[in-house]
Amino acid sequence: MVKVITAISVIILAAAGCAAEPADDGRIQFYALDCGAIDVADMSSFSREGKFDGEKYALVVPCFLIRHPKGDLLWDAGLEQSLVDTPDGIGGGAFHSTMKIKLTDQLAQLGLAPNDIEFLSISHSHPDHAGNANLLASSTFIANQAEHSFMFSDKMKENSGWFELYAALENADTVMFENEHDVFGDGNVVITSMPGHTPGSSVLLVRLRNAGPLLLTGDLYTHAGARELRTVPTFNTDAQATLKSMDQFEALAKKENARVIIQHEKADFEKLPTFPEFLD
Ligand SMILES: [Zn+2]
Repeated sequence: MVKVITAISVIILAAAGCAAEPADDGRIQFYALDCGAIDVADMSSFSREGKFDGEKYALVVPCFLIRHPKGDLLWDAGLEQSLVDTPDGIGGGAFHSTMKIKLTDQLAQLGLAPNDIEFLSISHSHPDHAGNANLLASSTFIANQAEHSFMFSDKMKENSGWFELYAALENADTVMFENEHDVFGDGNVVITSMPGHTPGSSVLLVRLRNAGPLLLTGDLYTHAGARELRTVPTFNTDAQATLKSMDQFEALAKKENARVIIQHEKADFEKLPTFPEFLD
């Protein structure tokens, strides 16, 4: 029986295809791109209560391309793609980052260059989510107002090691939102503010015709264990706000009956079609 089910899934995946153009029948296409990996030698910083002390964990770093008949949205911009040129990766200590394929090379498989993408939005501005943001500076930047203020604050400009990764967005066409933004105006691609991890962290809901509703966490949950145990990492702006956002997220997931994708969770990523295959 398992073999039969596997064979059927293969056929379904093959039928999903890999068209270079968005469907013209109103369908939305959802692609998960490989935008790097972070091997964590000690997960202690992922729980302020020490729940993961000494654990090793392999995190994935995806980017997501949502192709809507009205335009393309890139959700999160991954690790900075010059990392591909350092095959052994960078970082020692607790975090080791690697990247196998550039974002631009993956987009090229769909016949796309970064400036073909109409909209960029990021779950938050940490360097594993904003790494290639400068490449998308000609897109319209859909920004959570609180995150935008944080990103372009004097403190981030002067002291963060990663401001330069997204500096070009300061002059991009920008659509600002406070609580929620319906990207294409049809309720199918909706960004919702769920602050705490950073001042203006957000999550993304995508309603697909065949695959159903998907809910992408950003780093509200850093990995599967974080959702199980409701852990707040030490690298987090506001723990109380994070816990409140977790409640809001779970209520939304339940209301939408959504498939939750914890973005850094390898098991969630591996269940998605391998790029350039997609969900629709
Ligand atoms: Zn992250």
